[in-house]
Amino acid sequence: METLDSIKGLGPKNIKLLNKLGIYDMKSLIEFYPFRYDILKRSDINTLNDKELIVIDGYVESIPNVFYINKKLDKMTFKINIGLTILSVIIFNRGFLKSKIGIKEKITIIGKYDKLHNSVTASDIRFGLLETDKIEPVYHTTYGINGKQISKYIDNALQQKIRIKDYIPDYLKEKYKFRNKEQDIYEIHKPNNQNNLKKSLNRIKYEELFLFMLKMNYLKNNKNIKIGLKRNVGFEKIEDFINKLPFQLTQDQYKSVKEIYDNLIDEKRMNRLLQGDVGSGKTIVSIISMYINYLSGYQSALMAPTEILATQHYNNIKKLFEGYDIKVALLTGKLKAKEKKEIYDKIKNNEIDFIIGTHALISKDVIYNNLGLVITDEQHRFGVNQRGNLKNKGLTPDILYMSATPIPRTYALTLYGDMDISNIKTIPTGKKEIITTIKKNSEIKDVLSSMYEQLKLNHQIYVIAPLIEESDKIDLENVTTLSDKINKAFGKYYKIGILHGKLSNQEKEEVMNKFQKNEINILISTTVVEVGVDVKNATMIVIFDAFRYGLSSLHQLRGRVGRNDLQSYCILISNNETERLKILTETNDGFKISEEDFLIRGSGDLFGSKQSGDMVFRVADFKKDYKILLKAKEDSEEFLNNDLINSNVLIKELLFNNQELN
Ligand code: ADP
Ligand code: MG
Repeated sequence: METLDSIKGLGPKNIKLLNKLGIYDMKSLIEFYPFRYDILKRSDINTLNDKELIVIDGYVESIPNVFYINKKLDKMTFKINIGLTILSVIIFNRGFLKSKIGIKEKITIIGKYDKLHNSVTASDIRFGLLETDKIEPVYHTTYGINGKQISKYIDNALQQKIRIKDYIPDYLKEKYKFRNKEQDIYEIHKPNNQNNLKKSLNRIKYEELFLFMLKMNYLKNNKNIKIGLKRNVGFEKIEDFINKLPFQLTQDQYKSVKEIYDNLIDEKRMNRLLQGDVGSGKTIVSIISMYINYLSGYQSALMAPTEILATQHYNNIKKLFEGYDIKVALLTGKLKAKEKKEIYDKIKNNEIDFIIGTHALISKDVIYNNLGLVITDEQHRFGVNQRGNLKNKGLTPDILYMSATPIPRTYALTLYGDMDISNIKTIPTGKKEIITTIKKNSEIKDVLSSMYEQLKLNHQIYVIAPLIEESDKIDLENVTTLSDKINKAFGKYYKIGILHGKLSNQEKEEVMNKFQKNEINILISTTVVEVGVDVKNATMIVIFDAFRYGLSSLHQLRGRVGRNDLQSYCILISNNETERLKILTETNDGFKISEEDFLIRGSGDLFGSKQSGDMVFRVADFKKDYKILLKAKEDSEEFLNNDLINSNVLIKELLFNNQELN
């Protein structure tokens, strides 16, 4: 593995920052592809609207003035002559360029146009005039490192001739007349023209989809052969348990329990997906399944994508089984080594019946005594590799996946073609529709007063804001600035908590616990609360910059409220894309929303975020690249059938050496 320190001018501090973006070595640096391309095309000032993106070139007309607003922030202003008129330019934190911006210097400005003042708030300047339309790659960035730096490091790496393995079998490369992979990677980072760029992207997309389908097909083929466990439990025992629950199961919940029961007592291995909208009550169905499994004498593992969620499940289960002789353990990454070891030992010695946790459950050190049932919550958040690992732990445990993101049929067939599906279509009675409205940033006063209404009722509120670190280009509300504002408005009388990915697990849990106990009235958070969290007294969720999320994510977020019969509200704050967001004000039906999302955005949002599930690709997209997907599907099946040796070599590498595909 070639390490990053061979890149000139890249020190340990920036290497750490690159790590955050998933870049650990030269290979992952080179495969860090742009997430989009800007085509720099000269704007027509006559047709440009206020606040629109402007790209314009001209000659510097006045020597820049630089003001220091504070130690970390400077503001530079100057004028440029663009031929017909003179524009004022304002740009922050580029004071260091002052000496280069002389009179008559040729310059290009990219920024936001202010029609009234005939000025531009520039996000970037380039020296020289715009010639032809230029394709500029745009990279994801993180706080402390910008796109230009990333681009420079990639340039450097490209010159070093890093070897990148080409996974496509030769005969397929010939069939599609693919070029050398290195050439394509070069083109993707340094595009020359749109035609070649497209060809290169298609090749990388094909490779991603081919490998993905190869894994899927392999897993499918393998599953069908397996014989599972046999159980001997009468359904009346399950009925007893169901009758003691604090609520009555909905019809669909009951039906799902029956379907799972039938699978579990049957010798054929269960491989079932439990689908149901947010709040439909999937958890209790999974808990009943664990109980069936327990009565048959086997261990159950329940895996959740976040610690918050795992802890919540653990607490629920503990409470539900008070007075039963069932031993429950919570296994998460944050436990001390000694505590972990203790739990490992108990699992191994069959002293634990229910193991709840995050993907710590599939760590190599966990050896199950007699694992009979594996459940993954929010399945779409996990990758195929992780799925594989967990199953291989037990003898042949039965598998139940839960997902709140309904997948349109065509894709479900591709991805889950081998699975049985249980559907929970209704939300338990007594739940009201969540009233959803869209507000502009300028209407913040209305939002604050709606929040106040809820606070007066002693109800709680989620406020969602984007991460502190993301794109350096757009001006978004972030958690810290937002918390200042909310503090000003409510801090005197109400308790405010903050939750984001940078907190340690312990801090996160403390905040969540306080919110659970109503010791925090307003929780300002990034989307870490997106999945599964259940706080019944929360009746309002306010989502800033809502346009940044897919409809399905917003729907999931909205599902944090409306968790009992209190009327709940969702306020989407956005200046952009309000047309797209409108469907959320019209329906609470997750399936409709996901179909709509799929039509608009492609699959990106459907399968979870980049860090988690592996159905999100570097460049490919399930919907937009559906044609390529179908080819890849066919080709991978053929490869598996016709070339057993080579296909198995590849699969071993992909699945078992933990060679991450994306
Ligand atoms: P999800 O399907 O989104 O995971 P949960 O399982 O978290 O939903 O259930 C949402 C809430 O509804 C929980 O508070 C749960 O206790 C409650 N609930 C589940 N089933 C029923 C039911 N049949 N009647 C009333 N409330 C229920
Ligand atoms: Mg859930």
